[in-house]
Formats: sequence, structure tokens, C-alpha cells
Amino acid sequence: MNIQFDGNLSENYVSTPQRVRVITEDWMRRNMYCPRCGFARIEQFENNRPVADFFCSNCDNEYELKSKSGNLGRKITDGAYYTMIDRITSNKNPDFFFLTYSKTENKVNDLILILKHFFVPDIIERRNPLGPDAGRAGWVGCNILIDKIPEQGRISIISRGGVSDSDTVVSKVNRSSSLEVGNINSRGWLMDILNCVNRIQAQVFTLNEVYAFEEELQIKHPDNNNIKPKIRQQLQFLRDKGFLEFLGSGRYRKII
Ligand SMILES: [Zn+2]
Repeated sequence: MNIQFDGNLSENYVSTPQRVRVITEDWMRRNMYCPRCGFARIEQFENNRPVADFFCSNCDNEYELKSKSGNLGRKITDGAYYTMIDRITSNKNPDFFFLTYSKTENKVNDLILILKHFFVPDIIERRNPLGPDAGRAGWVGCNILIDKIPEQGRISIISRGGVSDSDTVVSKVNRSSSLEVGNINSRGWLMDILNCVNRIQAQVFTLNEVYAFEEELQIKHPDNNNIKPKIRQQLQFLRDKGFLEFLGSGRYRKII
């Protein structure tokens, strides 16, 4: 994988977003493999498809690409808020590539993959509607809050110019795929508990340490009066999927 863009492409476009799109898509087409199945390349859809930009001809998985200059940061500016929420709640989201690049050096800085089943409404921030003078007055956009996504759902492919080994990426993706939950409410709970577990620094932790998040979870889920059983249920799910080991006496070990 060569992280340099094709500089010759930049000449023909007047608008910056259009130029960035052409350059980054060209780079993806020439360099990116399918992180789901490991197939050597991904194909581009014809222009103006509403949801996805790329697909894998081997496993049919679909991908969307967003790019920005500079560093990763905490959030990604995306399209229409309500469209995004609808896509998430109806399971129509593709996997999501997020690419950052250096304008001056014309190369990729970071590339991460966010797996589709890690998208929950919680990670989508509603932006203020565009003002009355804007071309699309009243239009509401959104941000994707990357730091709210559990680390298991954010797979790094390139980090500060350093390229990860593709076998490692594919095996991480496969492992995280086992956490796929179709029901959006159950998925929300899984993401919540995964985030709590990730926030505990130690490898070995106790059930009481997870219960310490009860109040926080209760505020988030005011209608649920069984937070503790919910916590235990999700820990069990994580154990069944091989992310946790039960050590007995309310102790758990993270399996990395
Ligand atoms: Zn594939």
C-alpha cells in the first residue's frame, strides 16, 4: 500500500470538495483491499449513489468513504441528520471508511474503518439547522462522534502514515463482526456496556466495577428498571463471543 495520492489528478477540478473526492476515491480504488474478506481490491459504485461508494465483488460488502484534511479528531462531519438516523435504525448503513490526508504532502495520514453494526443513534450528533440565508435553509446535518464508538468497532488501517498489516486488519474485523446485533435497542445496550468495560483500565475487573456505571446508565435509559441484570446479560454476551473470560466470584478478564 502506497500512501501517496496521484498528484496529476488534482489539475482538472475547480471545486475543492470535488477534487478531494476524486483524489481520495482514486487512491482507495488503487490501494484498498476488502477489510471484511481480504480480497485484493474494492470496486467503486457509479456516481451519486445515495448510500455506499465502494463494494467488494467477492463478499458484496458495501463501504462509504469520508475524507478530511488534517488529523482524525473526535468527530466526522457527515450528511443529513434524519437520513443518518433512519439508515442506522433500519440497518441500511454500510461500513464506513474515514480517511484523513495531508494537503501539503498529498498523502494519507490516517484511515480507519468503522463497522456498520457499531453505529447507534447515540454516536450521531445533530447539528444546528442552516440559517435562513443559506442555500439550503433549515437543513440539518450531523456529526459522527468517533470517540463514542467502542474501540472494537474502529479498526485502524493507516495511523499517522504507518500502514497496518492487512491480515491483522482482516482478523480484527472478523472478530468484531461477531458482535453484530441487528436489533437497534439491544445494540445500544451492547455498545454502552462495551464502553464501560473499555473504560476500566485493568485487564481483570469485578462485576462491582461495572455496576459503578449503574447511575450513568440509568440516566441514559430512564425507562429501564433492571440495569444490573442488563449489565450481567451484556457481560455474558461478551463472554459468549470470546471478548471476556469469567474467572468466578464476580471477576472477569478481558481477552484482547
Ligand atoms: Zn470482501
